[in-house]
Amino acid sequence: MDDVIDLRIQRVLDEDESSESSESSSGSSQDAAESGQSGDHVRRAEPLVSYDTSLPALHSYLGNDLEELSGRTVLDDDSCQTIPILSLPGVMLIPGQTLPLQLYNPSTIAMMIHIIHSDHTFGLINSRFSGRVFANMIDTIGTTVEIRSYREEEGEYGVNHLIIKAEGRQRFEVLETRTQSDGIVIGKVRILPELSVGDPGECSKLNSLNKFKIPPPNLNTLERENTYQCNQLLHRSSHKYNKYDFANYTWFPEFVYKMYDPEVLMNRIKNMIQTWNKTMSSDLMPCNPKEFSYWIAANLPLDDRQRMELLKINEVTHRLRHELKILEECCVLTCRDCLCIIANREDIFSMSLQGPQGTYVNPNGYVHEAITVYKAKGLHLTGRPSTEQSWFPGYAWTIVECEHCNSHMGWRFTAVDKNLKPSKFWALCRSAIQNRISASEDVTDVNV
Ligand SMILES: [Zn+2]
Repeated sequence: MDDVIDLRIQRVLDEDESSESSESSSGSSQDAAESGQSGDHVRRAEPLVSYDTSLPALHSYLGNDLEELSGRTVLDDDSCQTIPILSLPGVMLIPGQTLPLQLYNPSTIAMMIHIIHSDHTFGLINSRFSGRVFANMIDTIGTTVEIRSYREEEGEYGVNHLIIKAEGRQRFEVLETRTQSDGIVIGKVRILPELSVGDPGECSKLNSLNKFKIPPPNLNTLERENTYQCNQLLHRSSHKYNKYDFANYTWFPEFVYKMYDPEVLMNRIKNMIQTWNKTMSSDLMPCNPKEFSYWIAANLPLDDRQRMELLKINEVTHRLRHELKILEECCVLTCRDCLCIIANREDIFSMSLQGPQGTYVNPNGYVHEAITVYKAKGLHLTGRPSTEQSWFPGYAWTIVECEHCNSHMGWRFTAVDKNLKPSKFWALCRSAIQNRISASEDVTDVNV
């Protein structure tokens, strides 16, 4: 999408409930004036989504005839592995995230074909992005990627185009790398462990204290072997079950245990996200704390530094606490280069079953992580709308740039079918935005 010739430049309207009427005349100078008048005081409108949100997750723009690979590889925690490494600028994969690839480089295609016929696994590392120039640096923490399906396209001299759908699996630390004569990087890596602190009250749960225990609402968790004790406990219905009763027998009060309870942390994060808008339903989110922590890491608009901090964390509770802290501080999304405000966090909504942020690949092979927002400002359109390989089937994409510094920010998607809701939305590149606390802090940072 990046190579579309600039044909015209439009000022993107700051979306509001009157967007339907203004959409038909977007591109005129009058729009710019209207946009300037519509400020943050406009009543917040909830996004209405009538779209089939399973479509973006299928990556159907890659074709529906990919060959599926069976078998899954799980590498032992703390084990050392030697795997081929692929580095992509602006992509820092989280376990569980889908990675689509379109490969044209002969060496990389040869490497991937070898991987397809072995254990399907390679390592992905983010190439450090600095300002407008890709610095030749790679991170020390990455994610193993397992190829799920692929399609080879033959050219005159063999396979010249390889399409891959893969999934992030396990985090690893790079111990050493070497570059082969064909340019392929082979890395010796250590698989990072997934730790869990377990039940914090376990040490205080003495058998002699069981007679004081109030049963939880779900009787499956009771010690079924002692029927007499079980019946006694069931009849003590005047007391309310409290899973932190054990705190009475420890040095720490109840609230300390709640601070480190994965379920409490998950509920706090869910409650916060669900206040943004009704598309951010808990149905999207996994129930398992580890998978939930990775879902949050994959779907929040975190910059590379914040993602790297999360990838380094081995313990689930620690990761959830870190994510909660980021969420509490994040209020607005800004352009990474000029720090002008593009959207509020409440504008983030989900157009995909996998969540508001997804990884997509364009026809030239560039992989983008894009987060969907239903309102945006401070952007202008570049080029004409196109439906070619649209990541959201039924929508046409148009490149959008920052109005102040002209950095590429992402795309605006407009519905081809007038009955589709929303009629338009934005997909912002994760690598082009930053989450900030507030506009006032932005100004401070600029001065610094
Ligand atoms: Zn900018």
